[in-house]
Amino acid sequence: MSSVNEIRAAFLDYYAREGHQVVPSSPLVPRNDPTLLFTNAGMVQFKNVFTGVEKRPYSTATTAQKCVRAGGKHNDLENVGYTARHHTFFEMMGNFSFGDYFKERAIELAWNLTTKVFDLPKDRLLVTVYHDDDQAFDLWKRIAGLPDSRIIRIATSDNFWQMGDTGPCGPCSEIFIDQGDKLQGGPPGSPDEDGDRFLEFWNLVFMQYEQVAPGERLTLPRPSIDTGMGLERMAAIMQGVHSNYDTDLFRGLIRASVEAIGGDAEGPRRPSHRVIADHLRASAFLVADGVLPSNEGRGYVLRRIMRRAMRHAQLLGSEQPVMFKLVPALVREMGAAYPELVQSEALITETLKLEESRFRKTLTRGLQILDEESASLSAGGTLPGDVAFKLHDTYGFPLDLTQDALRARDIKVDTEGFQTAMARQRSDARKAWSGSGDAATEQVWFGLRDRFGATEFLGYDTEIAEGVV
Ligand code: ATP
Ligand code: MG
Ligand code: MG
Ligand code: MG
Repeated sequence: MSSVNEIRAAFLDYYAREGHQVVPSSPLVPRNDPTLLFTNAGMVQFKNVFTGVEKRPYSTATTAQKCVRAGGKHNDLENVGYTARHHTFFEMMGNFSFGDYFKERAIELAWNLTTKVFDLPKDRLLVTVYHDDDQAFDLWKRIAGLPDSRIIRIATSDNFWQMGDTGPCGPCSEIFIDQGDKLQGGPPGSPDEDGDRFLEFWNLVFMQYEQVAPGERLTLPRPSIDTGMGLERMAAIMQGVHSNYDTDLFRGLIRASVEAIGGDAEGPRRPSHRVIADHLRASAFLVADGVLPSNEGRGYVLRRIMRRAMRHAQLLGSEQPVMFKLVPALVREMGAAYPELVQSEALITETLKLEESRFRKTLTRGLQILDEESASLSAGGTLPGDVAFKLHDTYGFPLDLTQDALRARDIKVDTEGFQTAMARQRSDARKAWSGSGDAATEQVWFGLRDRFGATEFLGYDTEIAEGVV
């Protein structure tokens, strides 16, 4: 059996042997890119290399990239604990060609690694191509020997990648595995493609055009390659399990969570332990990269992740701060590959402990209120927005925490009502303000209050379009 650590190393070794420069992961907070919330794909650190603005001493590279998809355009937060394949923090393995090789070699390399090194059974693999990409279709047929029925043409944006409104773009091709008909779900492109049976694990992007203006596309003289393979998904496949959370790495984290909290991780307790393990990774890696919990921007995404995990720990019966106790298990699993975890272990531990002790003061009372206020609601019902706002304003419950808490009972939150209550509170505060009469000072004061007060951060809406593989 291959452990997550072995698979990561095998991927990088393989591409290194094939002439690629092994480049370290870039931090989760993208450098020089205030429009992007977090690094969410392997290509992010190479954006300027693809456009030609930046030159590197190599033309091909391979990475294991730390990624967070918990905010902005790519937000998988709601999926965590509920799908077998989504995390907030995950590792994307990739190989890149900057005007060096193109489609044929990219497909050859990926297919060879998948079937010869990782030894996945050919007859269970299938691929997608962009509907008009005949070249990719023919290459898959020739190189992989796949029958036409397992090369699926897709016409949606799932198989066409763009860096932004302008810049490099091109068709993509994804590799899936059929995990057998005991699992629900249809092949890619079918109405029930989101099931667990057909699992996407690798996306190959063929950057062959440059969008210069709306509707105006040039063919790049030296096209490029950008690929992304989910490490946790590959580990699940190779370890013969149907959930990323059943791989060696996550089993280690869940074991630590069970030991710290008590009880087991079965039945209804399972999703909570999964959320805790996932959010522990995201929290620890974000703190290691310099993000601290706060009421705005990146810090607020981190706070939401931490508090969600804390509510799940409470749900499992933990009455004392507990997340910080899981840090050693994480360092054990991932510290060798990511030395920043070892260096920041004390900071991560203290940050979790502090946030947890603070939130603990209001969490129990807030949950009591939530119980009382939702007691009369049944499945399909809606919690009034002003209740969600009170929980937010007085008890520090991020909106998504309240939504997550009601999800098991299939109760929604009136989010419009929540926004209205928040806006009303702001304008009441302005009216009640008898300040200095100095309009400019008041402007600054309310600006600060709106930014740092008990406000909900609603995401970066300027995040670059599809800034991922
Ligand atoms: P999905 O359709 O499953 O949400 P995606 O199409 O959004 O995945 P890509 O943007 O193509 O994913 O990213 C490349 C690869 O990264 C995916 O094929 C998958 O293996 C992995 N990946 C993407 N999102 C996640 C996530 N939230 N958690 C774990 N792995 C992920
Ligand atoms: Mg996705
Ligand atoms: Mg997909
Ligand atoms: Mg994809």
